[in-house]
Amino acid sequence: MKTPALAVDVEGGPFVPMMLDRREPRGDDVQIEIAFTGICHSDLHRVQGDWDNGIFPMVPGHEIAGVVSAVGEDVSAYRVGDRVGVGVMVNSCGTCEHCLDDKQQFCVKGVVETYNSRDYDGSATYGGYSRSIVVREPFVHRVPDEIELSGAAPLLCAGVTVYSPLLRWGPVAGRSVAVVGIGGLGHLAVKMAAALGAEVTAVSRGPEKRADAQRLGAVGHLATEGASGPDGSRNRFDLILNTVSASLAMDHYLAMLRPGGVLVNVGAPAAPVSCEPFSLIAGNRAIAGSMIGGSAETRDMLRFCADNGIRADVEVVDARTIESAFRRVRDGDVRYRLVIDAATIGT
Ligand code: NAP
Ligand code: ZN
Repeated sequence: MKTPALAVDVEGGPFVPMMLDRREPRGDDVQIEIAFTGICHSDLHRVQGDWDNGIFPMVPGHEIAGVVSAVGEDVSAYRVGDRVGVGVMVNSCGTCEHCLDDKQQFCVKGVVETYNSRDYDGSATYGGYSRSIVVREPFVHRVPDEIELSGAAPLLCAGVTVYSPLLRWGPVAGRSVAVVGIGGLGHLAVKMAAALGAEVTAVSRGPEKRADAQRLGAVGHLATEGASGPDGSRNRFDLILNTVSASLAMDHYLAMLRPGGVLVNVGAPAAPVSCEPFSLIAGNRAIAGSMIGGSAETRDMLRFCADNGIRADVEVVDARTIESAFRRVRDGDVRYRLVIDAATIGT
């Protein structure tokens, strides 16, 4: 089936229209008419070549929400018309220890990502900046009725990426949690951590997001611009979730941890992370990382969001404005996630 898409042919862009050939649904495939796709900062990293080599042409997009338009004969959980989402993964072996442990992102055979990846038959994957997609049932997730599709799309990557470490390094109830970088991931982290009962402090460059931070559920807000050190925030947090897309001075943030505290990096800048050994040794502090979340965890997260009134704060953009949308993500001029109206792709 042919479907219009937005592609970049070379590292750095620009976007050009492309007609994609999606496979006809096989046994356990679900064909989805995409309604909205979030613009994750990872899309920007990928397009501009911040990480490994890209596969071009590249059709980004791994925060997908839409409606089922066809199913293969072995699909049991979904029917035409169901509201569903797809995140960062579209295939894994399903049998290795990590797949069996719901950590398909660490699949021994190699997880197949929604775009910029090769499926096991060698074909390149193309993501959600398109009108439709065909995905195996285990990687399709039901969007709860309570959450509109636009606000659901970013939960499929940003949402589960912050939910997973909050659980792993929790329970956070009654504990002091800082979220650094209040963007797509960060604003959801504040909402989720607050709903989990943490005392949340939002940490931003400037003071502009202070009022928003409170609305999102934070009890405190710190502006770091101009600060030479952690000042009054030394030894203050049990957990710091760093969602910043650029490199940070780690020693500054490690000093904000209480003894035994953990700084979890989910932000993925191109440069290495480094710190003084004594920033860790003094206080038994740790630095960790966290990569998205598994399929069952994604479904738990969607239920958690529905039960707690959580969705992403989104601004819907027309696909024809994709270049300015990307510029805004690069400039940090988004509150808090841009989602592409897929119906405008190819128009
Ligand atoms: P985003 O919406 O652009 O938000 C990033 C936030 O970081 C900005 O809103 C800003 O917050 C802060 N920031 C930006 N530039 C900064 C700088 N130079 N110095 C200090 N703070 C800065 O990005 P996102 O979509 O949330 O993604 C954030 C990062 O997570 C990206 O690197 C992305 O690739 C990564 N990511 C990782 C995973 C994973 O599995 N680990 C999954 C998805 C995304 P303030 O205005 O509050 O300062
Ligand atoms: Zn993402």
